[in-house]
Amino acid sequence: TDFKSDKQPTWCPGCGDFGTMNGMMKALAETGNDPDNTFIVAGIGCSGKIGTYMHSYALHGVHGRALPVGIGVKMANPDLEVMVSGGDGDGYSIGAGHFIHACRRNVDMSYVVMDNRIYGLTKGQASPTSREDFETATTPDGPNQPPVNPKALALASGATFIAQTFSSNSQRHAEIVQEAIEHDGFGFVNVYSPCVTFNDVDTYDYFRDTIEDLDETDHDRHDREQAKDKILEGDKEYMGVLYQDENSVPFEEREGVEGSMAEIPDGAPEGAMDLVREFY
Ligand code: SF4
Repeated sequence: TDFKSDKQPTWCPGCGDFGTMNGMMKALAETGNDPDNTFIVAGIGCSGKIGTYMHSYALHGVHGRALPVGIGVKMANPDLEVMVSGGDGDGYSIGAGHFIHACRRNVDMSYVVMDNRIYGLTKGQASPTSREDFETATTPDGPNQPPVNPKALALASGATFIAQTFSSNSQRHAEIVQEAIEHDGFGFVNVYSPCVTFNDVDTYDYFRDTIEDLDETDHDRHDREQAKDKILEGDKEYMGVLYQDENSVPFEEREGVEGSMAEIPDGAPEGAMDLVREFY
């Protein structure tokens, strides 16, 4: 697509991040966006390299801080399509606080997390979503603490769109990311994106056997209770839109906020917003 840059990814052959990125590019193209109006903000980790491999405006930010940067970009230039991306280590550990507040703030942007349940770039330490008994060099007996459930965290934090996909199922993955982009507000997608080099437990085969395509004839995505039940179900994982608030109003369209996002705040030095716009 137009979104593919001329840089060759240095991800390991077979890494789930290839499929995740391809779906993101497809979804951006399907929603009528082009590289000139798209801004990708990435964190740190294998996933964080994505801004280099995509042809759009991009910023490879600080560990765990991609979300506030993305919110800042959207505030400075509301006409941009802002997509934030990162990994489970980046987004659910050091970035967990930002995740909670991005969910409740509901700025109109999307957040795609490549969840491989491990720190890949630093060569295989347990991440916030690793299993309790996941043995690594730094946790030889496992982390001995339950994994974070990012969908539950999102629901509890007031997120208005919560979905999950699997990088290997490219068609569904792209469709769901597309829905996140089209959602009026913060569209959160947790993507199972296997690390083939360091995680020999949460593999393609494991996810293929565990993930069930969410049957929307049997699940009302607008019903919080149903979403909660599915999210907390335990061993079963779902691919699809688990929750969507049909009355979602993006932060920037709320009374008292509307029209003020790209205004110069009182007391700001002259030219401050011009500088921000120029930079982004
Ligand atoms: Fe992908 Fe893992 Fe290789 Fe990183 S270390 S590029 S997550 S397979």
